[in-house]
Order: sequence, then structure tokens, then C-alpha cells
Amino acid sequence: MTTRLDPDLSRRRFLKAASGALMAAPLASTASRTISTQVPNIKLPEVPGKRLGWALVGLGNLSINQIMPAFAKCQQSKLVGFVSGRPEKAKQLAQVYGVDPKNIYTYDNYDTVANNPEVDVIYVVLPNSMHPEYTIRALKAGKHVLCEKPMANTPQECEQMIAAARAANRKLMIGYRVRYEPFNQTMIKMAQDTTEMGPTRVILADAGFNIGDPTQWRLRKAMAGGGSLMDIGIYALNAARYLSGEEPIEVNAMMHSTPNDPRFAEVEENINFQLRFPGGILANCTSSYGVNLGRFRVFKPRGSFELDPASSYTGLRMRVFRGGTTEERTLPQRDHFALEMDHFSASVMNNTEPLTPGEEGLKDLKVMMAIYEAARSGRTVKL
Ligand code: NAD
Repeated sequence: MTTRLDPDLSRRRFLKAASGALMAAPLASTASRTISTQVPNIKLPEVPGKRLGWALVGLGNLSINQIMPAFAKCQQSKLVGFVSGRPEKAKQLAQVYGVDPKNIYTYDNYDTVANNPEVDVIYVVLPNSMHPEYTIRALKAGKHVLCEKPMANTPQECEQMIAAARAANRKLMIGYRVRYEPFNQTMIKMAQDTTEMGPTRVILADAGFNIGDPTQWRLRKAMAGGGSLMDIGIYALNAARYLSGEEPIEVNAMMHSTPNDPRFAEVEENINFQLRFPGGILANCTSSYGVNLGRFRVFKPRGSFELDPASSYTGLRMRVFRGGTTEERTLPQRDHFALEMDHFSASVMNNTEPLTPGEEGLKDLKVMMAIYEAARSGRTVKL
């Protein structure tokens, strides 16, 4: 049965809802339109489409500085819950982002999220060693999971996470955010196109930063799984794989840490590695916790192109080199996290495979284990 609403009443309800949404404007989508005939000069938000409810696990730097603000740019994802070991912090953030306090969980009562139909997706943003447990618990609670990179500390744990997703019939995606933004996507298209410059022959991929506080979990092997490679070098490895469009078959590597630097008592500072791909592409990659690096470059017989910075949150730049000319490529700067989260929401709603599923995280873990083995043994490791 349908109910006919008094047109004036429904308009008043609409305006009331719209003004409420306007008060929340900094947290809501920036998209808006003007209804010039009925209400001149008042900007009204777009009528939202279906959005999935997301809960964040781990309210650290990445969650607070990047992920929470990114929800304002999402079209298909909304922030509805937190899981945190620090209830006061969670409460404060809930006020800022309009999260209902009843949707705040601790690590202890986390599993009861199973009974909360407002939460569709759990985003695991914890130290690396905690990814498997919190991913598997969310899957068992019937939620879909986006888990930050690196997926886990070992390939075996990745396999357990994939098996848990399959058993629960839920989706699992890994947070390789740069796969969802236009600069890296353009690099992939150009790398795999042979018509203009010929086939890709050589790839350079470097990723690093000068890490600070020696007491942080990133420098504890048990929590981080390793050093710069697990945390930042993974961007270089992942790029070599997506730019070549192939899986490496051989790995060489060298490792060095500054002696007596307290930051590198347990994990590596620098690790350089080379990858051989089956079609003949060779990749040279650098991973560092000592210097700032962030460049991907693809070389072909008739030119090359690069991103530098290649994996920063903002300000990516692309240049194309042909003979003596350099072209600066202008592309939209988009919020990587908003694109990534909306991609996953769409995968869940449309029941399609995400671009970077658990299997993608497992592939990187297997190659990273081979890189460590090559560095330790000084030998080429076959994959
Ligand atoms: P962080 O240290 O700032 O935050 C970690 C959170 O985990 C904190 O809220 C902390 O309280 C909580 N936590 C729970 N138990 C903990 C324990 N035993 N020890 C330490 N912290 C504990 O870290 P972050 O930079 O937010 O990184 C979180 C995850 O996100 C990591 O897996 C990291 O690799 C990933 N990350 C991804 C990107 C990206 O661009 N995709 C960028 C940064 C970090």
C-alpha cells in the first residue's frame, strides 16, 4: 500500500532534513545542487544513494588523519562505527564524525558487532601482526573486510584470512590505495600499451621514508613482520607487479642497516631488490627507512614515463619522456582512500570481485619472503 503525503508537508520535511544535512556539511559529500525555482540561493545536498556502513578498527594515525576525513568524499560508504582499546578517544572521535556511541566497540566485545546490522564493512587499520586476528573475527561476525597492507606477516596467515572469507562467504580486500587513483591507473595503461613506445623493458620502483621514533611498533619485528620492505617497500614491489602485469619468477636482493642505529636493532633499514618477470621485464626496486623516496619509472624502446611522487597521499606528478621532450601529464588529484572504500562498497553491493582481493596481498607476501631469503643468502631465489 502506498501513502500519499501532503505536498507541503513533505516539502517541509525535506527542507528540515536538508538543513540538518547542511549543518553536517563538512562531514558530508561536497556534491550539491541548487533548486532555483522553489528555494532560490539555497544549496541542497545531493539526495544520497545507498551507502554501506563502515566501522574502523584501530584509531591511529592513518585512521584519524586520512581515513575518517575521506568518508566526506565517499558516495557509497559511510562511517558508522569504531573499534578501539581507548573508549575516551573513540567517544571524542564519535562526536566529531557523528558516530552513534552504541556503535563503539572494544577489542573484547568486538565479536558482538555480528548483531549490528548498521555495520556492513570492517576496515582493519591495526599494526600488521594484528591484521589476521581482527580480519578473521570480523569475517566470522558476518562482515566484509578491508584490511590494510601488508595483509599479514606471513603467507600462511594470508591463506588463513582468505579461507576465513571463503567460509563466511564474505569479501576480503587489501588496502592498496594507489591502485584506485588516476595517476597509477594511467601508468598501468601506458605500461601495458605497446603501440606508442613499444613493450616495457625495465621498471624502476623506489619507496622509502626516514622513520622517526625508535620505540614505535613499525620497528618491532614481532609486530611489523620486518622493516622497510613490509611497510613501504611493498609499494615498490606491488608497482613492479601491476606495471609489468606479470608475476616475478626470480629475485635478487641486498640489505643494509646503519650500524648502532637504535631504530634498526630488529628490522632492516634499506633493502634493494631485483625482479625478473617471465616476459623479460627486469625491475630494480629500492625500499628504505632511512631516506625519502617515491618514484616509479617505466622504460620502453621509444620513451619512458614516471610518477614522482608516486605513492604519496597527495601531489602525485607524472612526466612522459619521448626523445628530447618532457611532457607533464595533468590528471585529477583524488582522495585515494575515498576511491578505495567506494570501490569495496560497490564490490559488496554488486557482488563483484574487488581489484585487490586477499589473493593480491598473499602474492606480495610470498615475494617479500623470497626477497628476504635472497638478501640473507646472497643467492637468486626462484619463485
Ligand atoms: P598507528 O601506530 O598510528 O596506529 C595503530 C593503532 O593500533 C593505534 O590506534 C593503536 O592504539 C592501535 N593498537 C592496538 N593494539 C596495539 C598494540 N599492541 N601496539 C600498537 N598499537 C596498537 O599506525 P598506522 O600508521 O595507523 O598504521 C596502521 C596500519 O595501517 C598498518 O598496517 C600500516 O601498514 C597501515 N598503513 C597504511 C597506509 C596506506 O597508505 N595505505 C599508511 C599508513 C599505515
